[in-house]
Amino acid sequence: MHCPFCSASDTKVIDSRLIAEGQQVRRRRECVSCHERFTTFEEAELLMPRVVKNDGTRQPFDEAKLRGGVTRALEKRPVSVEDIEACINRVKQRLRATGEREIPSVIVGEATMAELRKLDQVAYVRFASVYRDFQDIHEFRLEIERLSEDDAPVEANVAAKPARRRKAKAERGPESPDLFAEEQ
Ligand SMILES: [Zn+2]
Repeated sequence: MHCPFCSASDTKVIDSRLIAEGQQVRRRRECVSCHERFTTFEEAELLMPRVVKNDGTRQPFDEAKLRGGVTRALEKRPVSVEDIEACINRVKQRLRATGEREIPSVIVGEATMAELRKLDQVAYVRFASVYRDFQDIHEFRLEIERLSEDDAPVEANVAAKPARRRKAKAERGPESPDLFAEEQ
């Protein structure tokens, strides 16, 4: 690809690694001409199911909208950009795993809540309170109590993923730099 700094047509890959639980490849590139370095991300473009809204209208799955909702819920929370992206990828995986060509919008909301709940409980409560539109403070309190009683994910099939993730983090070691904090 062309260099974004000088538009030279020749750049070389100097580092390549899997991120977001293997769903993306992150490449560091260097321009052969001006030697500036930049990063590219590559991921498979898989077909997402269409979303059926409550009024019956269909629309294409909107990843920007999902990212917006997740990012708003995580505002000022100690969660890295990479963890946010991994969360979004897991939501998409869940939706693709339904095998359906169309899914009700409520499924998108539920999948997002399930992943947020594992990532950050404050964000989960923020998202759930907007999404579920808790009718009263009692309902809200019940949800908070449910959270504190039960930290385990609801479904067994998703329980393996965070464990793998923690293992990968442990293998990288505490002093390995954040993927995005690298010197430019
Ligand atoms: Zn260049």
